[in-house]
Amino acid sequence: MTVTVQAVPCLSDNYAWLMRDMATGTIAICDPGEAAPVIAALEAAGGRCDLILLTHHHGDHVNGVEEIRAKYGAKVIGAQADAHRLPPLDQAVLPGDTVRIGETEGRVIDSPGHTLGHVAFYFPDGDVLLCGDTLFSLGCGRLLEGTPADMFRALSLLKPLPTQTLVCAGHEYTESNARFALTVEPGNAALRAKADAVFAARAAGRRTLPVTLGEEMRTNPFLLAGSVERLAEIRAGKDNFRG
Ligand code: ZN
Ligand code: FE
Repeated sequence: MTVTVQAVPCLSDNYAWLMRDMATGTIAICDPGEAAPVIAALEAAGGRCDLILLTHHHGDHVNGVEEIRAKYGAKVIGAQADAHRLPPLDQAVLPGDTVRIGETEGRVIDSPGHTLGHVAFYFPDGDVLLCGDTLFSLGCGRLLEGTPADMFRALSLLKPLPTQTLVCAGHEYTESNARFALTVEPGNAALRAKADAVFAARAAGRRTLPVTLGEEMRTNPFLLAGSVERLAEIRAGKDNFRG
Protein backbone atom coordinates (compact mmCIF):
# COMPACT_ATOMS: atom_id res chain seq x y z
CA MET A 1 0.00 0.00 0.00
CA THR A 2 1.35 3.39 -0.93
CA VAL A 3 -1.16 5.53 0.88
CA THR A 4 -3.16 5.34 4.10
CA VAL A 5 -6.53 6.93 4.85
CA GLN A 6 -8.11 7.93 8.16
CA ALA A 7 -11.52 9.40 9.00
CA VAL A 8 -11.64 12.74 10.83
CA PRO A 9 -15.10 13.37 12.30
CA CYS A 10 -16.26 16.99 11.81
CA LEU A 11 -19.42 18.90 12.70
CA SER A 12 -22.30 16.63 13.68
CA ASP A 13 -22.03 13.84 11.11
CA ASN A 14 -19.36 14.80 8.55
CA TYR A 15 -16.08 13.06 7.82
CA ALA A 16 -12.97 14.69 6.45
CA TRP A 17 -10.44 12.11 5.20
CA LEU A 18 -6.73 12.37 6.01
CA MET A 19 -4.42 10.64 3.52
CA ARG A 20 -0.70 10.03 3.89
CA ASP A 21 1.68 8.99 1.12
CA MET A 22 4.02 6.47 2.73
CA ALA A 23 6.99 7.08 0.43
CA THR A 24 7.22 10.84 0.94
CA GLY A 25 5.15 11.60 4.04
CA THR A 26 2.99 13.95 1.99
CA ILE A 27 -0.34 14.62 3.72
CA ALA A 28 -3.67 15.50 2.13
CA ILE A 29 -7.03 16.22 3.69
CA CYS A 30 -10.31 15.83 1.82
CA ASP A 31 -13.35 18.02 2.58
CA PRO A 32 -12.36 19.79 5.83
CA GLY A 33 -15.78 21.06 6.86
CA GLU A 34 -14.40 22.37 10.14
CA ALA A 35 -10.85 23.45 10.99
CA ALA A 36 -10.35 22.44 14.64
CA PRO A 37 -10.77 18.64 14.49
CA VAL A 38 -8.84 18.51 11.21
CA ILE A 39 -5.95 20.55 12.62
CA ALA A 40 -5.88 18.26 15.68
CA ALA A 41 -5.65 15.22 13.38
CA LEU A 42 -2.99 16.89 11.22
CA GLU A 43 -0.91 17.75 14.30
CA ALA A 44 -1.18 14.13 15.48
CA ALA A 45 -0.05 13.04 12.01
CA GLY A 46 3.11 15.13 12.18
CA GLY A 47 1.98 18.75 11.84
CA ARG A 48 1.92 19.10 8.11
CA CYS A 49 -0.70 19.44 5.39
CA ASP A 50 0.36 19.61 1.76
CA LEU A 51 -2.94 19.33 -0.08
CA ILE A 52 -6.62 19.96 0.44
CA LEU A 53 -8.94 18.02 -1.90
CA LEU A 54 -12.51 19.26 -2.33
CA THR A 55 -15.38 17.15 -3.71
CA HIS A 56 -17.92 20.00 -3.83
CA HIS A 57 -18.62 23.51 -2.62
CA HIS A 58 -20.99 23.00 0.33
CA GLY A 59 -19.96 24.64 3.60
CA ASP A 60 -19.90 21.39 5.55
CA HIS A 61 -17.09 20.28 3.19
CA VAL A 62 -15.09 23.51 2.76
CA ASN A 63 -15.49 25.71 5.85
CA GLY A 64 -12.16 24.60 7.34
CA VAL A 65 -10.16 25.31 4.17
CA GLU A 66 -8.86 28.85 4.77
CA GLU A 67 -7.65 28.23 8.32
CA ILE A 68 -5.85 25.04 7.26
CA ARG A 69 -4.42 26.65 4.13
CA ALA A 70 -3.12 29.58 6.19
CA LYS A 71 -1.59 27.39 8.93
CA TYR A 72 0.15 24.84 6.69
CA GLY A 73 0.42 26.46 3.26
CA ALA A 74 -1.60 23.62 1.75
CA LYS A 75 -2.49 23.69 -1.94
CA VAL A 76 -6.22 23.45 -2.66
CA ILE A 77 -7.53 21.18 -5.41
CA GLY A 78 -11.11 21.19 -6.69
CA ALA A 79 -13.25 21.07 -9.81
CA GLN A 80 -12.66 23.73 -12.44
CA ALA A 81 -16.41 23.66 -13.16
CA ASP A 82 -17.09 24.95 -9.65
CA ALA A 83 -14.06 27.24 -9.26
CA HIS A 84 -16.43 30.22 -8.95
CA ARG A 85 -18.04 28.85 -5.79
CA LEU A 86 -15.21 26.85 -4.21
CA PRO A 87 -12.49 28.47 -2.08
CA PRO A 88 -9.71 29.83 -4.36
CA LEU A 89 -8.10 26.83 -6.07
CA ASP A 90 -4.39 26.24 -6.62
CA GLN A 91 -5.19 23.36 -8.96
CA ALA A 92 -8.49 23.39 -10.86
CA VAL A 93 -9.16 19.89 -12.19
CA LEU A 94 -11.32 18.31 -14.87
CA PRO A 95 -12.78 14.81 -14.82
CA GLY A 96 -10.06 12.42 -15.99
CA ASP A 97 -7.25 14.57 -14.62
CA THR A 98 -4.58 13.13 -12.36
CA VAL A 99 -3.90 14.43 -8.86
CA ARG A 100 -0.77 13.52 -6.95
CA ILE A 101 -0.19 13.05 -3.20
CA GLY A 102 3.57 12.61 -3.09
CA GLU A 103 4.17 9.52 -5.22
CA THR A 104 0.54 8.35 -5.07
CA GLU A 105 -1.54 9.14 -8.13
CA GLY A 106 -5.30 9.59 -8.12
CA ARG A 107 -7.88 10.13 -10.80
CA VAL A 108 -10.63 12.75 -10.85
CA ILE A 109 -14.05 11.21 -11.57
CA ASP A 110 -17.05 13.27 -12.70
CA SER A 111 -19.69 12.81 -10.03
CA PRO A 112 -22.67 15.15 -10.62
CA GLY A 113 -26.07 14.80 -8.99
CA HIS A 114 -25.84 16.15 -5.42
CA THR A 115 -24.27 19.25 -7.02
CA LEU A 116 -23.42 19.70 -10.69
CA GLY A 117 -19.70 20.27 -10.23
CA HIS A 118 -19.20 17.42 -7.75
CA VAL A 119 -16.12 15.25 -8.32
CA ALA A 120 -14.74 12.11 -6.68
CA PHE A 121 -11.07 11.17 -6.31
CA TYR A 122 -9.87 7.58 -6.76
CA PHE A 123 -6.43 6.33 -5.69
CA PRO A 124 -5.94 2.80 -7.07
CA ASP A 125 -2.74 2.07 -5.10
CA GLY A 126 -4.41 2.57 -1.73
CA ASP A 127 -7.88 1.47 -2.89
CA VAL A 128 -9.18 4.82 -1.68
CA LEU A 129 -12.31 6.48 -3.09
CA LEU A 130 -13.11 9.95 -1.81
CA CYS A 131 -16.73 10.33 -2.91
CA GLY A 132 -18.05 13.28 -0.90
CA ASP A 133 -21.85 13.42 -1.02
CA THR A 134 -22.28 11.20 -4.10
CA LEU A 135 -22.13 7.72 -2.58
CA PHE A 136 -22.84 6.99 1.09
CA SER A 137 -22.93 3.63 2.82
CA LEU A 138 -26.38 2.26 1.90
CA GLY A 139 -27.35 5.56 0.30
CA CYS A 140 -26.52 8.32 -2.14
CA GLY A 141 -26.56 12.12 -1.98
CA ARG A 142 -29.71 14.17 -2.30
CA LEU A 143 -30.25 15.54 -5.80
CA LEU A 144 -29.95 19.22 -4.91
CA GLU A 145 -28.82 20.28 -8.40
CA GLY A 146 -28.63 17.27 -10.69
CA THR A 147 -31.18 14.83 -12.05
CA PRO A 148 -31.68 11.12 -11.35
CA ALA A 149 -29.96 10.52 -14.70
CA ASP A 150 -26.91 12.49 -13.49
CA MET A 151 -26.70 10.42 -10.29
CA PHE A 152 -27.26 7.15 -12.16
CA ARG A 153 -24.36 8.02 -14.43
CA ALA A 154 -22.18 9.13 -11.51
CA LEU A 155 -22.79 5.85 -9.67
CA SER A 156 -22.20 3.87 -12.87
CA LEU A 157 -18.68 5.36 -13.00
CA LEU A 158 -17.99 4.12 -9.45
CA LYS A 159 -19.50 0.61 -9.74
CA PRO A 160 -16.68 -0.83 -11.91
CA LEU A 161 -13.97 0.06 -9.38
CA PRO A 162 -12.38 -2.94 -7.61
CA THR A 163 -14.51 -4.55 -4.90
CA GLN A 164 -11.86 -3.86 -2.25
CA THR A 165 -12.11 -0.09 -2.88
CA LEU A 166 -12.62 1.81 0.38
CA VAL A 167 -15.66 4.07 0.10
CA CYS A 168 -14.69 7.21 2.04
CA ALA A 169 -17.94 9.19 2.07
CA GLY A 170 -18.71 12.64 3.44
CA HIS A 171 -21.30 11.71 6.07
CA GLU A 172 -22.17 9.16 8.74
CA TYR A 173 -25.72 8.63 7.45
CA THR A 174 -25.53 4.83 7.46
CA GLU A 175 -28.01 4.08 10.24
CA SER A 176 -30.86 6.10 8.73
CA ASN A 177 -29.90 4.81 5.27
CA ALA A 178 -30.08 1.24 6.59
CA ARG A 179 -33.58 1.72 7.96
CA PHE A 180 -34.73 3.03 4.59
CA ALA A 181 -32.82 0.42 2.57
CA LEU A 182 -34.61 -2.37 4.45
CA THR A 183 -37.94 -1.01 3.17
CA VAL A 184 -36.63 -1.07 -0.41
CA GLU A 185 -34.91 -4.48 -0.28
CA PRO A 186 -36.79 -6.45 2.39
CA GLY A 187 -35.62 -9.80 0.99
CA ASN A 188 -31.91 -8.92 0.78
CA ALA A 189 -30.16 -11.13 3.36
CA ALA A 190 -26.80 -9.38 2.95
CA LEU A 191 -28.53 -6.06 3.67
CA ARG A 192 -30.31 -7.47 6.72
CA ALA A 193 -27.01 -8.70 8.16
CA LYS A 194 -25.26 -5.43 7.36
CA ALA A 195 -28.09 -3.36 8.86
CA ASP A 196 -27.85 -5.33 12.11
CA ALA A 197 -24.09 -4.72 12.19
CA VAL A 198 -24.64 -1.00 11.50
CA PHE A 199 -27.22 -0.63 14.28
CA ALA A 200 -24.86 -2.38 16.71
CA ALA A 201 -21.90 -0.23 15.64
CA ARG A 202 -23.82 3.02 16.02
CA ALA A 203 -25.28 1.98 19.38
CA ALA A 204 -21.68 1.43 20.50
CA GLY A 205 -20.60 4.82 19.08
CA ARG A 206 -18.45 3.33 16.32
CA ARG A 207 -18.02 4.64 12.75
CA THR A 208 -19.48 2.66 9.86
CA LEU A 209 -17.03 4.09 7.30
CA PRO A 210 -15.00 3.41 5.32
CA VAL A 211 -16.79 0.43 3.81
CA THR A 212 -15.77 -1.66 0.81
CA LEU A 213 -17.41 -1.09 -2.53
CA GLY A 214 -18.01 -4.84 -2.81
CA GLU A 215 -20.17 -4.78 0.32
CA GLU A 216 -22.07 -1.75 -0.98
CA MET A 217 -22.66 -3.45 -4.34
CA ARG A 218 -24.62 -6.18 -2.53
CA THR A 219 -26.54 -3.96 -0.14
CA ASN A 220 -26.92 -0.34 -1.34
CA PRO A 221 -30.33 0.12 -3.06
CA PHE A 222 -28.98 2.99 -5.15
CA LEU A 223 -26.16 0.83 -6.55
CA LEU A 224 -28.59 -2.06 -7.05
CA ALA A 225 -31.05 0.16 -9.00
CA GLY A 226 -30.90 -1.05 -12.58
CA SER A 227 -32.37 1.99 -14.31
CA VAL A 228 -32.65 5.77 -14.00
CA GLU A 229 -36.38 5.35 -13.34
CA ARG A 230 -35.76 2.96 -10.47
CA LEU A 231 -33.10 5.23 -8.97
CA ALA A 232 -35.49 8.21 -9.22
CA GLU A 233 -38.19 6.22 -7.45
CA ILE A 234 -35.89 5.16 -4.60
CA ARG A 235 -34.39 8.66 -4.24
CA ALA A 236 -37.89 10.16 -3.95
CA GLY A 237 -38.77 7.50 -1.39
CA LYS A 238 -35.73 8.37 0.72
CA ASP A 239 -36.45 12.10 0.49
CA ASN A 240 -39.87 11.42 2.05
CA PHE A 241 -38.72 8.77 4.51
CA ARG A 242 -39.15 9.43 8.20
CA GLY A 243 -37.58 6.62 10.09
ZN1 ZN B 1 -23.11 18.45 0.18
FE1 FE C 1 -22.37 17.27 2.93
